[in-house]
Order: sequence, then structure tokens, then C-alpha cells
Amino acid sequence: MQAQNIFPSAADFIVTKECNLHCPVCWGSHMPPFARLPIEMQESMLEVLAKNGVKAMSITGGEPLTEPNLPKLLKKANSDLGLKLILFTNCTLLQGKEKNILPYISRISVSLDGYNEPTNSYARKQGHFDTVIDTFKLMRNKYPKKQTQAITVVTEKNKDFLEKIGERLVRESEGLDFCWKLNYYFLIGRENPSFQLPYNEFEDRAKDMKNRFSDMFQVRYSQEDRDYAYFFVFPDAGIYTTKGSEYIPLGNLLIPDSYDEKSLGKIKLKSLDRRKEEKKIK
Ligand code: SF4
Repeated sequence: MQAQNIFPSAADFIVTKECNLHCPVCWGSHMPPFARLPIEMQESMLEVLAKNGVKAMSITGGEPLTEPNLPKLLKKANSDLGLKLILFTNCTLLQGKEKNILPYISRISVSLDGYNEPTNSYARKQGHFDTVIDTFKLMRNKYPKKQTQAITVVTEKNKDFLEKIGERLVRESEGLDFCWKLNYYFLIGRENPSFQLPYNEFEDRAKDMKNRFSDMFQVRYSQEDRDYAYFFVFPDAGIYTTKGSEYIPLGNLLIPDSYDEKSLGKIKLKSLDRRKEEKKIK
């Protein structure tokens, strides 16, 4: 019989590779190719994850809201299986769909790369900034007990106005259970080497922001900490971790003989920090 709790307690479920935006800071194009299994099989995948130790899951992509079956998957994962969910979204497709999405999630995670529309639009589509701010209002008015997080990808383009982004977020996040994270611009499937700043400069700037905005700031992991720390699940049941810019296949979720406890144990150990974070998800 298959052992229980074989998987790390936090997983990243890639719902789709599709996205309605084409951000120059996106790393999605680097994912391994995959086909999408029917919804019934994806639901079975969720059952396997829950039965084998996964307690919290990031729902990510691509843009998850381009997936028509997303509400069904969220309901299954949260209402039926009790998984805590974080939804990573660009927010642009949320309006009108939120009632079928937000009740099932514990935390919404949005990207914000500038402090207003002009400074954000180098990285995202025009209109994205205002949509994110509208989403904060929606969370405050209708889902104040759910958590909201903003992630800023730090590049040569925005490194000099991180403080302004933080100040804007302090104002906009009033009344929210909120945190801000900074991501390094890794060259993983991204095509703009000129955006990348030296890693030690990123760390210095992240430290400055942590000191300046200690109430809402959460530290990012170092480059090495990310290796073998992620447990990715793809919609074709492929499971992967990453090392540097490489996806490392671990097996197929629906074929227990295809993966082994030793390699999954390594990821469980490396993902300790992520599991601490998972405990903070309400
Ligand atoms: S919204 Fe996210 S997934 Fe879509 S292109 Fe931008 S970074 Fe990539």
C-alpha cells in the first residue's frame, strides 16, 4: 500500500500555461510541455495530493482564471478535501467570476511592479495596476478576513522606486490582512537580461525594504533556498521540482510506482520554510 504523507505539505498546482497577458517579466514560457487531462482526472489528482500529505496549495499558471474548470477544481480542493489555497492571479479576469472563486481561497496573490499605472506598465499591460487596486477594494469590502499578498519582481527598471511601491501599498492595503514580497528577476525563461540586477544588490534592497516596511514585508528566499524547495504539479499529472532554471521530473502523480520517497523526502526537507509560511495561511 502507498505510504501516507509522502508529499511535501505545500504544492504548486499549475492549472494552465495559458495567459491573457504577455508580461516581459514572465517565466511561464520555460515550463515543460504538457497536455491537460480531463477534469475528472484532475480531481483524482487533487485526491491523491490530499491523501498523501499536501495541506496547502498555490493555484498558479499561466493565468488560472483562463481555465474554465477552475471553480470546480477549487471547490473540490477546498470544500471537499480541506486544502488551503492561495490563488496567484493577474486579476484582469476576476470581475464577474469572483463569487465562484474567492470563497474557496485563503489568500489572493497579485503582482505589482510599480507604484502607479505608468511605472507598472513596463512589466504588465496598461490597465493592470488599476485592476489590482480595484481587487484590493473588492477584498476589503467583501472578503476582509481573507489574506492578500502583493509580489514585486525587482528589476533594473523598478529597483530605484521600491520604496514608493511600498508606500503606495501601505495606503492601499489599509483594512486588509496584507503582506508584500519581493521576487528576484531570475533568468528562467525570461528574455530580458537587461532587466536583471546582481543578486547581492537585490538582497541589499530587499533588506532595506524589510527594515522600512517591517509590518507588511516578508523575506524572499535566497537563490539556493529555491532549489528542490518546490513541488510542482502539472495538469497532465506530471510532478516536478526545480534546480536553478531547470525543471526536474519526479514522476506522474497518478502512477505511484513512478516516484520515490527518497527524492520527495529531499523536497520535504528543503521546503521547511515554505511549510512555516503555509501555517500562516488561515
Ligand atoms: S500575468 Fe503572470 S502568467 Fe501571465 S504573462 Fe504575466 S507574468 Fe506571465
